[in-house]
Amino acid sequence: MESINCPLCQQPSQSSWIRVSDRLNPDPDKKYNISKCECGFMFLNPRYNEDEVSEFYQSDGYDPHASDSASLYRQIYKMVMKLALFLKFKTINQYVQNGRLLDIGGGSGDFCRYFKDKDWDATMLDTSENARRNAETLGIATISTFSQIQDDIQYDLITMWHSLEHIHDLESLFENIRTHLKPNGYLIIAVPNIRANEQSYYADTWAPFDAPRHLYHFSPETLKQLLDKNNFKIIQSLPLYQDTPYNILHSLPDRSVDQILKALYVWMSSWAKIFFKGNYFSSSMEVVCTIKS
Ligand SMILES: [Zn+2]
Repeated sequence: MESINCPLCQQPSQSSWIRVSDRLNPDPDKKYNISKCECGFMFLNPRYNEDEVSEFYQSDGYDPHASDSASLYRQIYKMVMKLALFLKFKTINQYVQNGRLLDIGGGSGDFCRYFKDKDWDATMLDTSENARRNAETLGIATISTFSQIQDDIQYDLITMWHSLEHIHDLESLFENIRTHLKPNGYLIIAVPNIRANEQSYYADTWAPFDAPRHLYHFSPETLKQLLDKNNFKIIQSLPLYQDTPYNILHSLPDRSVDQILKALYVWMSSWAKIFFKGNYFSSSMEVVCTIKS
């Protein structure tokens, strides 16, 4: 494991904020520490390095890498994902209608496939060999690192749907994005929001802690600071409504009647808060960014 300075402000000392279990393989003797820096940024510390962490993505319960199955849960998950794809496409279409897309951490490949069907030239970058193999069966071009992109290739759109929080080297990530995004191109990032309404109800069992896979826990403020530091500005910020029931379902400590009733209450109160107060308390934030001129 490696101990790190704050990835946002580089300060070496941070206080421990909360200790959490791996939700896919809970072990009372194995807890992960999430630090909170004076600048407000929260992150896993210490953390596994890139090679060490790969084994923690192998669980059958890890939805983004799961393949199709006939289970009712999986069918509902796929249905909601289809609706989510339509909504993502609708948002993106306001800014850019066609061109070259790079999806970083594309997992199942469904996002690239959707855009390929709309005549986009779509490439998926994912470090998981299984994920790339699945995507290739859908006819998607895949790569595993930025070094496989030719120097003169630039994209109209680069997307990161819940992948930023998995990436170890943020500095080199943003450098690569700046190199390969057209000057008038768009970067879209979606991450869980540590200010999510339901987080206060589920404390350390809140699913998006997802240790040891999730390395960072962004708030609207720290996401903006990170983008600002890396020369990107946010031009639109919106909530992902579908993530609220998903996160609540995966945060339940058990499936008792009490917990189900509580979940329904938290779900409705979260949606009401997002609807009336904007996405400050939403489960996940989606931001549309451009390179600062
Ligand atoms: Zn800091």
